[in-house]
Amino acid sequence: MKLKIQILGILGGGQLGRMSALAAARLGINTIILCPEKDCPASLISTDFIQADYEDETALKKLADQCDVITYEFENIPLKTIEFIQKHKPVYPDHRLLEVSQNRLKEKQFLNDIGIQTAPWAPCYSENDIKVTLEQWQTPKCIIKTARFGYDGKGQLLHDNNSSYLESWTSLQTDEAVIEGIIDFDYEISVIVARDVKGTIKTYPIGINEHKNHILWKTTAPANIPSKIQSSASKLAHLVAEKIELVGVLTLELFITKEGNILANEIAPRTHNSGHWTIEACHASQFENHVRAVCGLPLGSTDAFAKAEMINLVGDDISDIPSYLEQDNAHIHLYGKTESREGRKMGHVTLISNLDNAH
Ligand code: AMP
Repeated sequence: MKLKIQILGILGGGQLGRMSALAAARLGINTIILCPEKDCPASLISTDFIQADYEDETALKKLADQCDVITYEFENIPLKTIEFIQKHKPVYPDHRLLEVSQNRLKEKQFLNDIGIQTAPWAPCYSENDIKVTLEQWQTPKCIIKTARFGYDGKGQLLHDNNSSYLESWTSLQTDEAVIEGIIDFDYEISVIVARDVKGTIKTYPIGINEHKNHILWKTTAPANIPSKIQSSASKLAHLVAEKIELVGVLTLELFITKEGNILANEIAPRTHNSGHWTIEACHASQFENHVRAVCGLPLGSTDAFAKAEMINLVGDDISDIPSYLEQDNAHIHLYGKTESREGRKMGHVTLISNLDNAH
């Protein structure tokens, strides 16, 4: 048998692209990475690499000509890039998901429109919007996030009595932001969902996420949380995937309040750091199912057969590697980044244990 899709193009060259390329290789699918940075993590193991900016139409055309289908591994790919490539070859997930997830205002509006609750929010275009919103909400505190290009806590701040509206607004250095009410959540989870071209949807067991300095530190999965929350959270991710006609994988990040309310924080239009554990503990990983979906193959099982604790190696955490190398149940992943910087994700480790002992 010859697979219809033999060459997958990936826009973006980070670790998500790298792990997707590895999953593709196992399925006999070659990958071509397009990324502006030489020696990016994905280019080191992909079949081929095009070093180019995402606006470089000559390079994009070359990618489209050489590939059967294209995907992307991070959300800050310009929409115009996707629209350009779509004229030549299919791109999955298509521009609709990217459009929604690239802008926090559109994202919150979309979530609310399909009946998914979020933190209270208001658009912000000036310091006066902060003042008016906080007066309306009768609180001195909020979180303000730039509408675009925020990640790992970048592009967001806590506003309170200690700073003036003007100080908060100018320090964000943006012209479009979202003001969010602060949620006193009990815990944070993420739901990763895959949908194939025929509309079949499969959801991974839910992971509980813990952050350090706004960066994901640890995911524990399958999460030991009430089954009612598990099924409601999975239904929300299904709903997003269906409404957006997803082909591929997306991740819905959720806050669970002490009262058991589920509030959506963010949609990632892609595989997610909180799903790395699926490589070792599920029949088909998030990366494999993403590749399967975008290449027109049926999805593999998302069931977990082991319990996992995924720990990110951020910056100097890389020095913990020798001790993990001594640990029998530690599955080590390094992303091939030569320079370790504060806050930079260098790799991760997944610690596996028996699922039967999990609860
Ligand atoms: P984000 O960039 O939106 O994913 O936010 C990063 C992290 O900041 C989240 O994982 C939460 O831990 C925290 N956070 C974001 N928004 C809120 C909120 N409205 N209330 C409380 N914590 C938040």
